[in-house]
Amino acid sequence: MNTLLFRDSQLPEDYVDAIELAVRASSLVLPGVGGLVCDKWIEVDHYPKLGKTTQVDANIIDGLKSWQNGALSIVATGEDLGHRSVNFLFGMSKTGQGQVIVSSYRLSPEQLFATTVHEIGHSFGLVEPSSERYDNSSSFAGHCAVDNCVMKEVNNVVDMQRAFNAISDNPTQAGHCDGCAADLSRTHYA
Ligand SMILES: [Zn+2]
Ligand SMILES: [Zn+2]
Repeated sequence: MNTLLFRDSQLPEDYVDAIELAVRASSLVLPGVGGLVCDKWIEVDHYPKLGKTTQVDANIIDGLKSWQNGALSIVATGEDLGHRSVNFLFGMSKTGQGQVIVSSYRLSPEQLFATTVHEIGHSFGLVEPSSERYDNSSSFAGHCAVDNCVMKEVNNVVDMQRAFNAISDNPTQAGHCDGCAADLSRTHYA
């Protein structure tokens, strides 16, 4: 599957590399989609802001069609990312719809790498509420209750480090626990 990457000029080059690495890492657990290929960077001048803030509005991914042109879409910004329900976001995804948005603003390249792997997991449907791994105590939907899984909820830099370590410790599954990896491996999109 192709990956469309929309980036603004505020996103530093080493963060661009981190996103490409995340796409490649996630590919390993997505054999059903034939892997993911980073084939197109699209430069964007200015993303719309959230209300009167200076934060990029995370809801702009609503404007993207799901699986646009049969591709995964990743929107990346170097500016801070906001959403009306929280003070800021590291990233967001629409579950199972192939739309991801991430921000480098509060993160190191390694942290953005982990965030992108996590959000790609959501974009391919992790974690279904019907799953026995579904974390009911998570403040946001779609998280895994397994401690060393990259799909566990990430709310701060400590969680972020845990997610990064999960990927480093289990690179062949890109940090996904066996259950999340199995769900992704069964994923097929046209
Ligand atoms: Zn999440
Ligand atoms: Zn998991």
